[in-house]
Amino acid sequence: MNRAGRRRDFRACRVVVIAVIWSSCPAVAAVAALANAPSKITLCDGTTAGAICVPPRASAILLHAAAVMQQGVERLSGRRPKLIEGNPEGCSLVLSVKSAAADVLTPSECAAMGDEGYVAKIAATRHGPQMLLIGGSDRGVLYGAGRLVDLNLQASGDQVTLSAEKTVQAPALALRGNYTLACWGKTHLYTRNDWRHIFDTMSADSMNVVMFWLSGLFPSQKQPESVVYPETKIGVDDVRAMIRHAHQRGLRFLLGSGIFAWFGVDNLAKKYPETCAAGSGGMCPSNPLARKLNREYLLEMLDAFPEADGFFLEIRDEYGPCLCPVCQRRLDERGSRQYGQAELSFLRELTAEVWRRNPEAIFISTVGYGDESNAAHSDDVLFYQGIRQMHDPRLFWLVCRGNWDFPSADGRQPLRNFSANMLQWTQYYRLSVSDIGQWIRRSQEAGCQGFCPALEPGFCSASWYSEDVPYPVDAIPYAVTRFAYREYCWTPAMSAEALRCRLSKRFFGPDASAHLADDLLGLFDLIRTQSQDQGLSGGSPWPRGCLARLIDEAEKGQDKMERSETAPIVPRSRLAALAALVQQRAPELDRMEQRLSAAEPGLSARGLETLALMRRALADTRRELCLEPKAAERVRRTADRLNHLLADRRKAMPAAVQATSQWNDTKYPAENVLDGDVDTSWLCPDRSALPQTLTVTLRRKQKIDYVRIVQGNYHPAYNSRAYRVESSADAATFSALFNGELPNRPGAAHVERFAPVEAVAVRVVITSVYPNVEYSSPSLAEVDLGLGPRSCLSPEKR
Ligand SMILES: [Zn+2]
Repeated sequence: MNRAGRRRDFRACRVVVIAVIWSSCPAVAAVAALANAPSKITLCDGTTAGAICVPPRASAILLHAAAVMQQGVERLSGRRPKLIEGNPEGCSLVLSVKSAAADVLTPSECAAMGDEGYVAKIAATRHGPQMLLIGGSDRGVLYGAGRLVDLNLQASGDQVTLSAEKTVQAPALALRGNYTLACWGKTHLYTRNDWRHIFDTMSADSMNVVMFWLSGLFPSQKQPESVVYPETKIGVDDVRAMIRHAHQRGLRFLLGSGIFAWFGVDNLAKKYPETCAAGSGGMCPSNPLARKLNREYLLEMLDAFPEADGFFLEIRDEYGPCLCPVCQRRLDERGSRQYGQAELSFLRELTAEVWRRNPEAIFISTVGYGDESNAAHSDDVLFYQGIRQMHDPRLFWLVCRGNWDFPSADGRQPLRNFSANMLQWTQYYRLSVSDIGQWIRRSQEAGCQGFCPALEPGFCSASWYSEDVPYPVDAIPYAVTRFAYREYCWTPAMSAEALRCRLSKRFFGPDASAHLADDLLGLFDLIRTQSQDQGLSGGSPWPRGCLARLIDEAEKGQDKMERSETAPIVPRSRLAALAALVQQRAPELDRMEQRLSAAEPGLSARGLETLALMRRALADTRRELCLEPKAAERVRRTADRLNHLLADRRKAMPAAVQATSQWNDTKYPAENVLDGDVDTSWLCPDRSALPQTLTVTLRRKQKIDYVRIVQGNYHPAYNSRAYRVESSADAATFSALFNGELPNRPGAAHVERFAPVEAVAVRVVITSVYPNVEYSSPSLAEVDLGLGPRSCLSPEKR
């Protein structure tokens, strides 16, 4: 039987079976008793554990909902409620879907619940109070179970109670899920069980779709060269098992791939160079062979994973447009080009083909790149008009890079004017909880169908754990990100205070003192922000142990500096930043630890669980930031020693150099222009505002008749262009010596000779850089000045 047929049969069967059972069900008959029922049930007390009832032959999703409840009670009390199939009599909790429990619901409750909402009512029965958890569908029951365990389940003494949720709860956004990248860092090494656990947590976050990246991992038979990670731990059988597991957790599973670019497709472009795009990476969307290869690759994937629910497709735009004459053909006066139409026609052809094979398949395709696409569709009115015409309900658009409006013939228009199926995206793991709420609120207000943020720990995770296999999704900080995401998806308008209350309930229990939630959020924010500080880490994602290595290197470098005046300077601003951090954070974390220890005796089982999470996060944070006493002492000592060494060296130098900005100076400080080494460069931070100025100040006034400057030697993307050189006889007022433009070639040198002038300082003002797709900033490799054959800077070396 094909998949679609099987699903339809399953639905019909479930409704009939449950309705038959429930028509003789005492709980459902006891509607009249609902009005005066108590507000909570007891799921276990000192002697007995209650029972949870599911309908006979319950789906895997309903059984998982019951298991979520059982585990929740067991975690708080050590006792696991029994699971009963079919007979609700005497059970404390009964799980059901609205189609089988219509008698207990008002029509407005039924309507408000939709497919994925729920209500938790209590009826008085002759065996005592009984809670009915009724979902709009199996998914609704599952989400209800998860949220009730987190927010309404309470342990007090021997008792575990569950309070009702009498008003209908329903998510505000229809599509919720992760854009899940299994292609960066070490994520291709996660096993199927690692992914199963991650899917479990997605369902705990009430997500209903996973866009799972497979391009470059998928072992294509037709195009074996497309495989980027032959060592991946997930083969076809594993992925199929993962898809089945996703379904058992209420998640639709979409096969993720780039089109005309990214990973597996990039490898195909290498194999078939005639398909390559002009002036950018990836393939040309107008090229017939490129279209054929992309189509075949995706259809082979579909054949290999027949259980999948559709595709997640990342269009090639982030590479910038293809500049071939066909793609660049202008279609109107506004700037629409064939490039966009080629992309859309490919998508139309692919969706038609896939829907012939599986009419239920859904597609999520990325759209809305801005500057990072080199303006691929900036004025491409016909591209967005094409999207407006593609209104099949099975086709969704994931808006990347925070764009909220698109160009049209009548100017820019809000997202909802282009499609009812817009979804928003961002890297939510980078955000504070209030910013997560802000994104979700804005998505809802903009009429988006969903908010599907990135899970891409191998690329970045804003934590210490990007390199862990697997990424600890239950640890702090991600546990907090997940919780905020879920709760704002259900209540976008929630105030910051209300979120903090829910967070406190979820992580510490209803009676916990307020400072615990504050400390949890404080720790979350600290890890999130410090781990994203590349000036400190020197890289992204956070390289585990990077600061301990920095100290090791600094100590070795300082030994060399002591032995030789020309030894390279160890990375001083990173070291200074680390020393400042140690001074501030070490006592802060000590105080937090003391507050937690003081609170420990009064904590509930829930609070103790969180305490263990926080202690792990504290220990890892201390280790990564060198805050442990011994490491902190080494940081202080090394920073002091460097200051002394630098002071000695400055006294010996014939000149000093200063720049208006410099990238993290591990490798790119302004001093690099005076070191006589063209391989080392001064580099400004990416996209620095212009102009940027580099000033060389001599120890004493001297006559000079030449200045030599050398183009940066880091990367062609960071080439300086126009510049002005000025000199000063008093280090205060500068007058122009000459203007110029450096060639767009790393290491290109220019020497300018002029009538001798008296100077104590010379500065290079960089007024423009060479344009580049994504990155640009001024850089220089060397600056030299002198008279005749002699350099003023380092005479013995030049
Ligand atoms: Zn082209």
